[in-house]
Amino acid sequence: MSEFVDTSTFGARSVLVDNIGLLYTGDPAREEIPDAALVIQDGQVAWVGPSGEAPDADDRVDVQGAGVIPGFVDSHAHLVFAGDRTAEFNARMSGQAYTAGGIRTTVAATRAASRETLTGRMHDLVAEMRAQGTTTVEIKSGYGLTVEDERRSLEYAREVTEETTFLGAHVVPADMAADDYVRLVTGEMLAACAPYAKWVDVFCERGAFDGDQTREILTSGIKAGLLPRIHANQLTEGPGVQLAVELDAASADHCTHLTDADVEALASGNTVATLLPGAEFSTRSPYPDARRLIDAGAVVAIATDCNPGSSFTSSMPFCVALAVREMRMTPLEAIRAATYGGARALRRDDVGVLRPGARADLVVLDAPSYVHLAYRPGVPLIRTVFSS
Ligand SMILES: [Zn+2]
Repeated sequence: MSEFVDTSTFGARSVLVDNIGLLYTGDPAREEIPDAALVIQDGQVAWVGPSGEAPDADDRVDVQGAGVIPGFVDSHAHLVFAGDRTAEFNARMSGQAYTAGGIRTTVAATRAASRETLTGRMHDLVAEMRAQGTTTVEIKSGYGLTVEDERRSLEYAREVTEETTFLGAHVVPADMAADDYVRLVTGEMLAACAPYAKWVDVFCERGAFDGDQTREILTSGIKAGLLPRIHANQLTEGPGVQLAVELDAASADHCTHLTDADVEALASGNTVATLLPGAEFSTRSPYPDARRLIDAGAVVAIATDCNPGSSFTSSMPFCVALAVREMRMTPLEAIRAATYGGARALRRDDVGVLRPGARADLVVLDAPSYVHLAYRPGVPLIRTVFSS
């Protein structure tokens, strides 16, 4: 079990984290520093550089050659839900295909759950994530699908993160016509949810919402002051990625089925391609072509997509290992995607990076470098997590 160090307990004292084996900074200007050190002050990184050049500090922590990375930025997670989909997973692993409709099972359980049940599960999952090195997490609604159930999902998510996403448009509820539901999502539901949300998201997919509906929902969200992101091109090719780039969405998530034009749009636009390999792993589906995106020049993030249906993992190290082994990313590209990439997908420059002024969210590994996250898959290599 990893140790958590709350940097707010340092008060005004500066702390030198010294004798780092390999420091991965997430800063494109200076990504890797061997034999490094880092100073924390007032909850922020005050200095990074070679160990021999480190300034004096009030306290010193010797990590004895361990690798250090920024805390992971998990930019895509669904943590407000109740119920269990073990049986569905078991059936899928016995040969049934994944469809978007399984979401409705979780919706019924979530609507019936108490505040205590929903927040208890959410806090447990956030703690599980933190123990595995995640210090920033985005949380979506999307298992309520009524005005009040979506609103309270976001209210609960706000307890643990400022990165909250209104995903009323996750799937059309079983008892409603699609047009009526889109009207609700863009009207009364949006008005109730916007005060608790930073982002608006749509599951743009066959069986969920088409291009016109997605555009209408995102545009309404933008008018209400929210920033757009999209579940795009997960199960089939479709309009999601193009729409994401056109609307300057921070991220197009999944990106599993892309045309050449989609790749080109992502490479030339300001939208991050967020890959969620836990979903392909858990549905036995083909992985996104990360190489094609990276080689074209797109910014790539990886995230867990932690949710009870299609990717019930909270582990960024596991996703890093999948990215390397299954999506042919190099270990450097994978760690970059899990830190710097995730921060870009949330339009943040104070996390996912260790440079002066950034938050002092960092992870000391039980290994000399981040490469071991893929080299030693499934091994608990998160020794200490510094955050506040
Ligand atoms: Zn998702």
